[in-house]
Amino acid sequence: SAKLPIMMEEKKKTFDANEAALLVKELNESFRTGKTKSYEWRVSQLKSIEKMVVEREKDICEALYKDLSKPLFLRFKSIPISNIMSKMLAFFLIAMVKSSCKEALKELKHWMKPEKAKTSMETYPSSAEIVSEPLGAVLVISTWNYPFALSVKPVIGAITAGNATVLKPSEIAPATSSLLSKLFEEYLDRSAVRVIEGDVPQTTALLEQKWDKIFYTGSPRVGHIIMTAAAKHLTPVVLELGGKCPAVIDSDVDLQVTARRIVAGKWQANNGQACISVDYIITTKDFAPKLIDALRKGIEECFGTDPMESKDISRIVSSNHFSRLQSLMDEYKVYNKIVVGGQRNQKELKIAPTIFLDVPGDSQLMQEEIFGPLLPIITVENVKDSIDLINSKPKPLAAYLFTNNDKLKNYFVQSVSSGGMAINDTVLHVTVSSLPFGGVGESGMGSYHGKFSFDAFSHKKAVLYRSFSGDSSVRYPPYTPEKQKL
Ligand code: NAD
Repeated sequence: SAKLPIMMEEKKKTFDANEAALLVKELNESFRTGKTKSYEWRVSQLKSIEKMVVEREKDICEALYKDLSKPLFLRFKSIPISNIMSKMLAFFLIAMVKSSCKEALKELKHWMKPEKAKTSMETYPSSAEIVSEPLGAVLVISTWNYPFALSVKPVIGAITAGNATVLKPSEIAPATSSLLSKLFEEYLDRSAVRVIEGDVPQTTALLEQKWDKIFYTGSPRVGHIIMTAAAKHLTPVVLELGGKCPAVIDSDVDLQVTARRIVAGKWQANNGQACISVDYIITTKDFAPKLIDALRKGIEECFGTDPMESKDISRIVSSNHFSRLQSLMDEYKVYNKIVVGGQRNQKELKIAPTIFLDVPGDSQLMQEEIFGPLLPIITVENVKDSIDLINSKPKPLAAYLFTNNDKLKNYFVQSVSSGGMAINDTVLHVTVSSLPFGGVGESGMGSYHGKFSFDAFSHKKAVLYRSFSGDSSVRYPPYTPEKQKL
């Protein structure tokens, strides 16, 4: 009924620390009954998520469209998944969640099985194993840029590991947040899986409680707040943060393929509003003009001669973010450095793919994470110099290198520290569930995806088994001279 959304709005506003404490109490009680630990419960919840995603695909697409006007979302069912762009899109959407469920359902028994461990001479005779146990009540706080997938994927990990879970989606994607709240009520066991909507006051109320783990996706700035709140209760955290992800382009590359993959990793990926999208490019002075031409062509192929008219490009998520990007573009230090694009429309929150050449290192554009369609290109004398530039900045969530030179690949992998990497591509490493996804240094801590999600929400308990045989008196006092001789 029409009253329902209003009631939900009211509920959201009144959610305070007392309610949060009650919620945690309730979830802990559920957890202590042991039901979330059972294999059957985990399977039933994972199957319900699969069902929810299949049955409500249209609602999910509509909510995403409302929040971000993601272009192909509404159409993707009719698109043959034949090219990399539509595959990526489908992936980031619903396929990503479906495949996480599928993998968890297939592997769960195996993941839950205690892992045999070697024993030491001191414990002979004995056996040992590592038992993965759930942590208890966990909190997942998510972000707006992929508001469905980045909310549900960590929840899948928490459920897979047998925890009671609260999800706090981002208020900046309100349609998806409210849909998640509705769908979780409808499909999942509300005694152990909940959604709490809200922004800072509600999140603060949640953060005051004692959780057994907090899994946070968002900005490094809020990452500090999360970790400070967690420290009060000695709660462990996973922080999936961001940073400035560089792409280094050598001059021996296949230029057309390189340009296309950068276009995909920058503008197709949510118009740059993605944590592992290319933040800036480093290339050599000589090669920059060719690269810029190829990127211009690549942008035109994907978004037409006027990208502002393209239906295949996301808008900027909010007017705040638009203003932030506008001020990055308008800083006097980068003025006149635009070599491609530059168009914007405040009313429609649209910014065209925009490339800058050689902006100063101390400009805002090179100091903060861009998280939008602006792409600075920095030139160096020698491609190896790019590594010093990357290493002079905080460690990024992803780093990319395009080259045919094996020595350079090896040097890059060995000398650049980043959460993850892709060589001769962008973004795609996120699709490989056998690779951990997470940051290092200021881009975060901990990781997830596939088995890593299960591990992120489990405690690895060390268990030593002994029998009563083989007991030696040498171990026990008094330490007589005879014993000391042994
Ligand atoms: P954000 O940190 O502003 O918000 C994320 C969450 O934190 C939201 O749920 C929000 O309600 C909550 N929050 C905001 N302010 C808070 C406060 N003062 N106290 C408590 N909670 C608060 O981040 P964002 O703008 O939504 O996302 C952009 C950032 O996220 C970028 O840095 C990007 O790189 C990063 N990101 C990382 C990943 C990843 O997987 N590593 C994925 C997407 C985005």
